[in-house]
Amino acid sequence: MTAQDPQIARAGRSLGEPIVLIEGVEKTFGDNHVLKNVSLTVRQGEVVVICGRSGSGKSTLLRCIDHLETIDGGTIRAAGHLMGMREKNGKRVPLKDSEVAKQQRDLGMVFQSFNLFPHISVIDNITLGPVRIQKRPKSEARDEARALLARVGLPDKENAYPRQLSGGQQQRVAIARALAMKPKVMLFDEPTSALDPEMISEVLDVMVDLSRQGMTMIVVTHEMGFARAAADRVILMHDGSIVEEADPETFFTAPKSEHTRLFLSKIL
Ligand code: ADP
Ligand code: MG
Repeated sequence: MTAQDPQIARAGRSLGEPIVLIEGVEKTFGDNHVLKNVSLTVRQGEVVVICGRSGSGKSTLLRCIDHLETIDGGTIRAAGHLMGMREKNGKRVPLKDSEVAKQQRDLGMVFQSFNLFPHISVIDNITLGPVRIQKRPKSEARDEARALLARVGLPDKENAYPRQLSGGQQQRVAIARALAMKPKVMLFDEPTSALDPEMISEVLDVMVDLSRQGMTMIVVTHEMGFARAAADRVILMHDGSIVEEADPETFFTAPKSEHTRLFLSKIL
């Protein structure tokens, strides 16, 4: 199976209730208005691909969903949490950092630059969160880590150190590490853009498999093969706004926005 097989991942997958609800989100950095009234609903099991040129606000949106940034307006509900807030007597109260960290555990994030801990082995990278944060028994966490390593195609790498792995292998470990926390939603921020071309498909194939197994995923990527193979919806962000939102077929063949046509003419 390769990420280039169109339609396959979507076949037979049914979508559930909304699990990420983004409403009227605003974000500014100084006088740079980075997210402008962004609204987006993602249903359980859905795969949404976000694309758009550099600086359009894609990473900021993902970081706001994961509460790595605070928002200046609007609301984000993800995996059952009103991110960063608690409702008390009809009012919204900001959460303490420890409570925010608890909310973040339901969201798995994979970054462009892998971010593995260099000084510990692959299996320790994967079990660190489950053991230290979730307080799960070490033997159980290690068994699960081995199963995850098999799932990402690296069954023989548990004792390797990150520097001994290729970029594609490190990114697959990073995906396994995120999955070890049993997230309800996975967020990917350009997971293949730091990789050599020959390693891109090994990472995308893992992501396509994940989508087939019903994981809810929001993926910032310009890999249009992945979008065609796995996305239920493709979104184009332009200058802090969502300007196109369509199923992959429509997005690629009959986009409404001039921005999408221009974007596609540059990347295809
Ligand atoms: P994209 O991921 O689409 O390339 P980003 O979300 O990274 O876009 O950036 C959107 C805008 O926000 C850019 O103008 C960027 O310079 C700005 N920006 C992003 N993060 C920060 C930050 N931490 N501080 C100040 N400006 C930022
Ligand atoms: Mg970015």
